[in-house]
Amino acid sequence: MVTLPLGIFGGTFDPIHLGHLHLAKTTYKLCQLQKIIIIPCHQSPLKAIPNASADDRCNMIRLAIKGLPYLAIDTYEIAKPSISYTIQTLEYLRQKNGETPLALIIGIDSFNRFDEWHKWQKILDFAHLLVVNRKNQEPITNKTALAKLTTRQIFDPQELQNKMAGLIYVADINPLPISATDIRNSIRQQKDMSHLLTKEVWQYINNHQLYIR
Ligand code: ATP
Repeated sequence: MVTLPLGIFGGTFDPIHLGHLHLAKTTYKLCQLQKIIIIPCHQSPLKAIPNASADDRCNMIRLAIKGLPYLAIDTYEIAKPSISYTIQTLEYLRQKNGETPLALIIGIDSFNRFDEWHKWQKILDFAHLLVVNRKNQEPITNKTALAKLTTRQIFDPQELQNKMAGLIYVADINPLPISATDIRNSIRQQKDMSHLLTKEVWQYINNHQLYIR
């Protein structure tokens, strides 16, 4: 019996926006994933402290994925009061999901910093990598990432179903040019950002007066 891979989509989600949802929907369909688990981080080792609280970020994710059965949230990283290392999350997910293939979704921007990740040498023991572009024609330039590609890259996403971990698929997802940083900065300048967020998330931001300073 074929077990469809579980997508794992980590990030700060400060706030979750239509660029994230577009990425999730496209990779879900393209790679025939069984589901995508969104994992908001407590604090990324490579980024500044999030602006909104963990509770607010999780609430916005729950609002954004309501009615989308292929998306779920897991608060494992939020529940730990420390920096979130992907390798620990993957160990947890591997234990929880037995032999199900796991596919970690990352942007090319993250893949280009792959060798800065904590214990990066072990990541592919626990999951496949599903690398997506954040901008059009974004190159992979990191030497370690390129070296991994020469031995691990597959060109048919169906192959992700054949193994639990260890393969890399690079997908062109026609990304939407949206960033959470731009959204936060624009809200601070009192601009209307409703077109880049779901209606419910935009309402939540306004009701809770998020990102105004
Ligand atoms: P920030 O601007 O605060 O850094 P962000 O929107 O870049 O936020 P995260 O919330 O940490 O980022 O994003 C989680 C993941 O989603 C990252 O791998 C990031 O590359 C990817 N991502 C974010 N926005 C887009 C987008 N518009 N298109 C494709 N991928 C995206």
